[in-house]
Amino acid sequence: MRYDEKALVVFSGGQDSTTCLFWAKKHFKEVIALSFAYGQRHANEVEIAREIAEVAGVEWHCLDAGFISGLSHNSLTDMSISVDKEKPSDALPNTFVPGRNMFFLSIAAVFARERGIRHLVTGVSQTDFSGYPDCRDNFIKSLNVTINLAMEEQFVIHTPLMWMDKAQVWALSDELGVFDLVREKTITCYNGVVGDGCGECPSCRLRKKGLEEYLSIRK
Ligand code: ZN
Repeated sequence: MRYDEKALVVFSGGQDSTTCLFWAKKHFKEVIALSFAYGQRHANEVEIAREIAEVAGVEWHCLDAGFISGLSHNSLTDMSISVDKEKPSDALPNTFVPGRNMFFLSIAAVFARERGIRHLVTGVSQTDFSGYPDCRDNFIKSLNVTINLAMEEQFVIHTPLMWMDKAQVWALSDELGVFDLVREKTITCYNGVVGDGCGECPSCRLRKKGLEEYLSIRK
């Protein structure tokens, strides 16, 4: 598959979206990366995203979406709430930022439209499902229809990681030749530690489990 078109990657500088950035570079003629400053716990995420985009050689933009952090209370944007160590059995984890992916993709679509881009790429996955409803395939498909109706366009939202577990995402980054870059430069940790992270938070544990699985079968 090689599209003769441009794509926009919604880009946080984490493992998943960085893998998607390089996936997009392989499959599209030209790629731009779009990050959001939304009052996230670790402001260095935006700087890290910028640096990775530079290494990838793609045009990078960052939009202010700070209103998102003011809309709800969650541990990713409110420093007074500590990150849930375990996912509660009867509720969404407190790292859930309500509406985040809906806002990001909707804004990204308008941004892309202005540039004549109709392919949007996002690193969401429902396999290692953290309990975020806006990472699920049915939500993405539904939003795709909605933004097309909203703007009378033919956007295609690509979700290359949707059915991959974390070990498979590591394998994909290796296939794309960016395993070391993803391992060393990306930020996934809820405590803001780059690369292998703090090792303790739910995000680090998921990433580490996948990494160990992948390393055990890596040739
Ligand atoms: Zn961590």
